[in-house]
Amino acid sequence: MMRRIAAICFVVATAGCCMAQTSTAKTKTVALKCGNLFDGRGDSLRKNVVIVVEDGKIKDIVAAVPAGADVVDLSRFTCVPGLIDTHTHILLQGDITAADYDEQLLKQSPEYRTILATVNARRALEYGFTSIRDLETEGAGYADADVKKAINDGIISGPRMQVATRAMDVTGAYPLVGYAPNVEVPHGVQVVDGADHARQVVREQISHGADWIKVYSDRSYRVREDGVLDDIPTFTLDELRAIVDEAHRERHKVASHAMALNGVHNSVEAGVDSIEHGNYIADADLKAMAARGIFYVPTIYVGEYVAQGRAAAGAPVWVKMIAIHEDTFRRAMQAGVKIAFGTDVGGFDWKINPAKEFSSMVKFGMTPAQAIRAATSIAAELLGTQNEVGTIEAGKLADLVAAPGDPLADVSLMEKVEFVMKGGVIYKRP
Ligand SMILES: [Zn+2]
Repeated sequence: MMRRIAAICFVVATAGCCMAQTSTAKTKTVALKCGNLFDGRGDSLRKNVVIVVEDGKIKDIVAAVPAGADVVDLSRFTCVPGLIDTHTHILLQGDITAADYDEQLLKQSPEYRTILATVNARRALEYGFTSIRDLETEGAGYADADVKKAINDGIISGPRMQVATRAMDVTGAYPLVGYAPNVEVPHGVQVVDGADHARQVVREQISHGADWIKVYSDRSYRVREDGVLDDIPTFTLDELRAIVDEAHRERHKVASHAMALNGVHNSVEAGVDSIEHGNYIADADLKAMAARGIFYVPTIYVGEYVAQGRAAAGAPVWVKMIAIHEDTFRRAMQAGVKIAFGTDVGGFDWKINPAKEFSSMVKFGMTPAQAIRAATSIAAELLGTQNEVGTIEAGKLADLVAAPGDPLADVSLMEKVEFVMKGGVIYKRP
């Protein structure tokens, strides 16, 4: 077993896990010759730029290759900061319908799901996502914290991870539901009722490795006659406030699944740090989000992906939500809300490249540069890692990817990343 681990380490990580253990060893200087560079901040590309990488970090951005450096020729490509997906589920394999979801929780052991998760982590990295925020394990306990540990220890390949572990929702609100009362079934969350219990669960999840606390703030959606997307709020405002207060007291942030009117409003009132999905957000709440720096993670593509399947299964509201979502997205941009790239991959099949979200964001009104910033500098700000990743500048970690051609002219090229470097280690190259 030890030999096998050592071999993996040698092959995938010439500069990462092995060299890091011997502080005197200096890694070879690598020069990435980029045809174009998008630094994660601006609106335009720089042409013919060389990124110098040393000891896992960006050392310099220059015009010519320094003497003695190993050159990676990316002259046909645009170099961008390593991408960040702020809403993933590595423990989930797609759940268009309730039956898909129930089957995974009933028929796959957490151990088997963890094996699949390690494959998904590798996939995320190969798509170009060098950081992810994984927003709960959907019934697989604390497996995300273990996948993160295995990546950090150099045992398996994957992105830098922030994890939410089990998440929370109230009694009767989250699958599996609808079984006979005498049948014990698993739940995709930790079931929590009451402010005191909520505080205890926040403490418990953080003690077992949660970086983020994830709450489900609403369920059961319907479109009102005035076009507003209505919901049933799950937690009371008191419960939500207790969760946010306890998490913040322990220097952790809160992500709230909130798709509609009341769930979003309560989450904003309670002071969460990010609104997930947000298909409908009232103008007053958008204004409050902008003023308080609450991020919006719209996850557009997954809505299109599940809509037809869920409509066929008897829930046509999912089709109507798409136009409502677009209107909200455009109002959020106008209101100056910070919008971070997140996909909900796992809610759709990991074999589909989550970078499809870039095209969805552009379709809803962003420029390609805005969409790529949402997945780099702005996403890093949401994760609190903006001093290490999210832009291409000297001193930052060498998390870099390259897409062919000019993604500012055609943002779907972000689905064709051919070069991936994380912490100076190359995981994929053309
Ligand atoms: Zn999700």
